[in-house]
Amino acid sequence: MESLEEKTRFIMKKYGISANKSLGQNFLINDEVVSNIITASEISKEDLVIEIGPGLGTLTESLLQNAGKVIAIELDERMIKILKDRFFMYENFELINDDVLKVDLAQLIKKEKEINNLKNAKIVANLPYYITTPIIMKLLEEELDIESITVMIQKEVADRIIAIPGEEYSGAITYSVYYYAESESIMIVENNSFIPEPEVQSEVIKLKIRKSPVVELKNKDLFFKIIKISFMQRRKTLINALVNGGIIKDKIVAKEIFEKLGFDINIRGEKLSMQDFARLCEYVK
Ligand code: SAM
Repeated sequence: MESLEEKTRFIMKKYGISANKSLGQNFLINDEVVSNIITASEISKEDLVIEIGPGLGTLTESLLQNAGKVIAIELDERMIKILKDRFFMYENFELINDDVLKVDLAQLIKKEKEINNLKNAKIVANLPYYITTPIIMKLLEEELDIESITVMIQKEVADRIIAIPGEEYSGAITYSVYYYAESESIMIVENNSFIPEPEVQSEVIKLKIRKSPVVELKNKDLFFKIIKISFMQRRKTLINALVNGGIIKDKIVAKEIFEKLGFDINIRGEKLSMQDFARLCEYVK
């Protein structure tokens, strides 16, 4: 039987495709990784799966065999013909030729779940790395009616996403993701699992959307603004970052607030937990 690598090279040759680096095209050629992604995403025939960036259709094929319906969103027109040729016989397949960042996913999911009587929506993808963070933040911030997100991303971003807020490796994205989802690492993926090989290491992670928020926030916008400002100036103390960022009027007021909260006046943002930031938010507003 031909390997996934041979099959991928064959499709690329047949359609005259060379990977477009600026679209983050690194095609998966490792069967074990494909099967681990499918297992981790826990897809059933009751699920709607949205695949972002199907490319040549490597993951798509397995998704179609396991899901109730698959909607694949691909920006590169060259892939559309390939995907149509490969999967026209699947009745549960739909293709959208667009930039995922511009697609109204909330509307799409609502409509599909109603029409096809599907129970859950899940996102599965080998993401284009040049827009990993905007895609993940769109999926979370739009508070979509989805159960989970299983994605391959760059390991350095995965490290931040699966970090615990206030502990090693945490960054602004750690707090944002933690607010919306529980995260876990599924596997580290070697560079030679792709054509062409990416310049960075990869990791598959799974985000399970929380049913209730991990902290109660009265002002979510302010909470995330404070976090963003704290991490934009990570070398500064939190007080300096908040004053420079216009969150607190001056250092005297900042010190008073920190004393009331029991925070060390020299503390840096990355040492604060979600609850600490939520308490700070209450005083700052
Ligand atoms: N799923 C395929 C695989 O695993 O072999 C391809 C993954 S490749 C890392 C990323 C895919 O995302 C490419 O097919 C690329 O064309 C597509 N892509 C890039 N930017 C996109 C965007 N803004 N919206 C939708 N798809 C995009």
